[in-house]
Amino acid sequence: MIPAASLLDHLPRCPLGCLPTPLAELRRLSRHLGGPRIWIKRDDLTGLALGGNKVRKLEFLFGEARRRGSDCVLTGGATQSNHCRQTAAAAALLGLPCHLALSGAPPPVPDGNLLLDELLGAQIHWCGEQRKGETLPGIEQELRSRGLNPFVIPYGGSNATGALGFVAAFQEFSLQAGECQFQPEAIVFASSSGGTQAGLLVGAALAGWPGRLIGIAIDKNATGGEPLPGFITRLAGQAAERLGANLSFDSVILRNEYAGAGYGIVGELEREAIRLLARQEGILLDPVYTGRAFGGLLDLIQRGEFSRGGNVLFWHTGGTPALFPHAADLR
Ligand SMILES: *Cc1c(COP(=O)(O)O)cnc(C)c1O
Repeated sequence: MIPAASLLDHLPRCPLGCLPTPLAELRRLSRHLGGPRIWIKRDDLTGLALGGNKVRKLEFLFGEARRRGSDCVLTGGATQSNHCRQTAAAAALLGLPCHLALSGAPPPVPDGNLLLDELLGAQIHWCGEQRKGETLPGIEQELRSRGLNPFVIPYGGSNATGALGFVAAFQEFSLQAGECQFQPEAIVFASSSGGTQAGLLVGAALAGWPGRLIGIAIDKNATGGEPLPGFITRLAGQAAERLGANLSFDSVILRNEYAGAGYGIVGELEREAIRLLARQEGILLDPVYTGRAFGGLLDLIQRGEFSRGGNVLFWHTGGTPALFPHAADLR
């Protein structure tokens, strides 16, 4: 076992989040379902402009941006990207101009994450069909030609630097689980651009954790044309290398059967999961990521994937600002 904390200590990092986030048991819901005991890690409460999992990645990404002396940041995503909103907030906090490449076209009245991007002062570049940062190289060139030195953050903040945020997150969780004296047999979470899962894989390997990390695939299409499992294992290897740990990863658990009609299309699975957690525990999920992932968890429980007397952890990754633009799908 290698203490992850000491490996992470020497890397540049900007404190951005309210960490550690709470770890809690979902007592009413567990009773309602009749087992297993379900726990939740509240990364919807990371604190930066309504929170979410990207804050953890951005601590290391902005650490790197500061080390390089970048004078602005550039990233991209969907119109309602949580990653872009959290990047805009981090940039504001650190006094760096933020450029966002968003899919779609400007709506008459911005809402949800897009409204927040504007309030946070980000400059938006509209990119039509492209929602995975395909237009970043062109915009980077344009910024450089204006004499700027942008720090470019890939789609979802998912490179080896970003994934380090979830190596640190796993360590945070390990300490809390020790204090609460419970060991989940599995951790279930939404997986999309892969950085969260890659970081958790490395953190779990460093800690010698024996449980299963179950990613619920949100998106039918792969990142940059590469199948997600291969991308995640490669990213995990690179993140481990960054820490000087010689680890390689050859498999991931990624459940593909819950992606429904595709990215951002809300169905019965998400609607029911959001209502159930809201009404049993007073906790809000989001329509795109965590609603789908929690719906997947409920289905896996129903199908007997976990032992009845065991413990399972749901890692809430945020996204709640997207509830409002999806109002019509949720009623
Ligand atoms: C980005 C995001 C995820 C997925 O995390 P990845 O690291 O991209 O796989 C899950 N939930 C929410 C709310 C997100 O914004």
